[in-house]
Amino acid sequence: HADLALYQSKGSGRNVVHFFNPHLKQKASFELQLEEDLRQALQQDNCLMLFYQPIIDLRSGALSKLEALVRWHHPLHGLLTPERFIAIAEANGFIDQLDDWVLRRACHDLNSLEHMGYPGLKIAVNCSALNLANDQLPGRIEQHLQATRCPAQCLELEVTESALLSNINRAIGLLERIRALGVCLSIDDFGTGYSSLAYLRRLPLDTLKIDRSFIQDLANSNQDREIVHAIIAMAHALHLKVVAEGVETGEQLAFLQDRGCDQVQGYLFSKPLPLEEIVSRFPPHIRPLERVGMRL
Ligand code: C2E
Ligand code: MG
Ligand code: MG
Ligand code: MG
Repeated sequence: HADLALYQSKGSGRNVVHFFNPHLKQKASFELQLEEDLRQALQQDNCLMLFYQPIIDLRSGALSKLEALVRWHHPLHGLLTPERFIAIAEANGFIDQLDDWVLRRACHDLNSLEHMGYPGLKIAVNCSALNLANDQLPGRIEQHLQATRCPAQCLELEVTESALLSNINRAIGLLERIRALGVCLSIDDFGTGYSSLAYLRRLPLDTLKIDRSFIQDLANSNQDREIVHAIIAMAHALHLKVVAEGVETGEQLAFLQDRGCDQVQGYLFSKPLPLEEIVSRFPPHIRPLERVGMRL
C-alpha cells in the first residue's frame, strides 16, 4: 500500500520494524491534542460548562429536577457534547477529575437555585462507570455538599447499568456509602444493559430512568408500549420512581401519564440549556406540564 511506510525504531537499539500509517498518525495526534486541551480546560476551569435539562413531575406538573449535562466549549471545535470527550477522560485516567468538576459545579448551582426561589429543586449528575470503583467518591461528594451547604437530598447521582456490572459488589458498597449521605441514586438508560432483577433489588436506588430508545417509537410499536408498561410496573413493585427519557411528543407524554410514569424529561419540554436560560424559561412556581397543554 502506498500509504504504508516502513520505518525502523532507532532509539530502542533493536531493529524493530513497524508498519506506519500516516492517516492513523494524523488521527492519533488529533486525539492527543484533544486530550491535552481537555486536561487544560479542567485545570484552568474555563471551557467546561454545565447545561441543564428539566425533569417534570407528572403528578404535580411541576419542575422536579434538573439533569446536569456537561459541555465543552472548545476554542477551535466549538461546543462539544459528552459523547465526544467523556471517553477521552476515561481512557486517560482523569474522568475522576472531570466528574469531580461537574459535582462541584452542580452543588454550586444548587445553592444558587435555592437563593433564586427554587427550594427543593434537585440536580441529577451523571457518574462515569469508572468512578464507581473509586473509593474516594463518597468523601468528595460529602465535601462538595458541605462546602456549599446544600441538602444532600437535593443531589442525585445517575449511574448506568454497565457501570454496575463490572464489579457489582464493590459498586453496591460504594453506592450504599453515597446513599448514607442522603444523596439520591438513579439507574440511567435502563433497558440497554443487562441488569437482572436480582441486582436491581440489591441496589440502594430511588429512581429508574427508562432509556430513550424505548420511548422514541411508542406511537408505532406495540411491543415498546408493552415493554414500557412492564418496566413501570416492575419499578413500582420495587418502590422506585420512574423517569422516561427522551419524551418529544404529546402522544408519548399522554401514554406515559396513562401508565403511571412518575416523571418525564425530553425535548418536548426543553433541550439541555445553560442555567440562566432554564431559569428564564421555567420561573419558580410555573407548571411546565400545563405549558404543553396537558391536564393533571
Ligand atoms: P444521559 O445521561 O442518558 O443523558 C441524556 C441525553 O439525552 C443527553 O445527551 C440529552 O441531551 C439527550 N436528550 C434528552 N432529551 C432528549 C430528547 O427528547 N430527544 C433526544 N434525541 N435526545 C434527548 P448529552 O447531553 O449529549 O449526553 C450524553 C451522555 O453523556 C449522557 O447520557 C451521559 O451518559 C453522559 N454525560 C453527560 N454529562 C456527563 C457528566 O458530567 N459526566 C459523565 N461521566 N457523563 C456525562
Ligand atoms: Mg443521565
Ligand atoms: Mg440517560
Ligand atoms: Mg440515555
